[in-house]
Amino acid sequence: MKNTNFDFKNKNAVVTGGAAGIGFQITKSFLEAGGNVSIWDYSEQALQNAKTEFAQYASQVHLTQVDVTNRESVANAAAALPWAVDILVNNAGITRDKSFAKMGPEDWDAVISTNLTGLFNVTKTLLEKFNSASAHKRIISISSVVGLYGNFGQTNYAAAKAGVIGMAKTWGKELGRKGFTSNAIAPGFIKTAMTMKMPTEVLDGMAAKVPVARLGETEDIANACLFLASEQAGYINGTVLSVDGGIVL
Ligand code: NDP
Repeated sequence: MKNTNFDFKNKNAVVTGGAAGIGFQITKSFLEAGGNVSIWDYSEQALQNAKTEFAQYASQVHLTQVDVTNRESVANAAAALPWAVDILVNNAGITRDKSFAKMGPEDWDAVISTNLTGLFNVTKTLLEKFNSASAHKRIISISSVVGLYGNFGQTNYAAAKAGVIGMAKTWGKELGRKGFTSNAIAPGFIKTAMTMKMPTEVLDGMAAKVPVARLGETEDIANACLFLASEQAGYINGTVLSVDGGIVL
């Protein structure tokens, strides 16, 4: 379903992890709504695929290979931006799931440096790259329901995603007067490569627990993201929008 409810013509977004999964769909929805998107993704293969998939939007897309954990890589990507930023979507993330007893420091470090420090690196670097004339600057950070209620095997991921909520709320307080809103989205279980790694019976079990009786689609998250990025959402600041079919109830 094409998202025609929003008009992002002349708006410029940066979407981290924007070449695959949820980020790919967020990028696609912005492009369909007329926006320009700079995709910052780590995966060369996903970037190549995005280039092909978004060929019809070539003038609106800018692709950069970026590692959000690496400050030099982020600084180089920021310097190469072809436009001032209106919207930042902090979406890049990884999992390294293990029970706490089995989780090693390398699993902790990888997830914290991507899912938490990555947001610090990107948002800090891009602050001065936002369109200073805009009264509608947007930071949208992708958390997870797991950041709200924890999850077996995800000490690292739950800690990072709870931290994302803390950052999003703090930025809402600090940057509100400067024309920003900052919000987090907490997706439930969404069908992407990240979740499709799980066994089918686990996925079926998850779907059965969701009040709307299905796993989420990437479009569900993109729709929420476009709404929060719109001018119409200008009085929503520092909130966590759960997009999870009601699983947290
Ligand atoms: P995917 O793995 O499908 O896509 C994430 C993209 O981000 C990949 O292209 C990945 O590259 C890239 N990426 C990973 N690390 C970095 C990095 N250091 N720098 C730049 N890009 C990077 O993930 P999803 O679409 O499933 O998840 C997107 C976000 O949504 C994540 O923050 C995730 O935690 C969150 N989320 C997902 C849920 C789900 O059910 N799928 C539920 C709740 C939250 P590569 O493939 O090389 O790693």
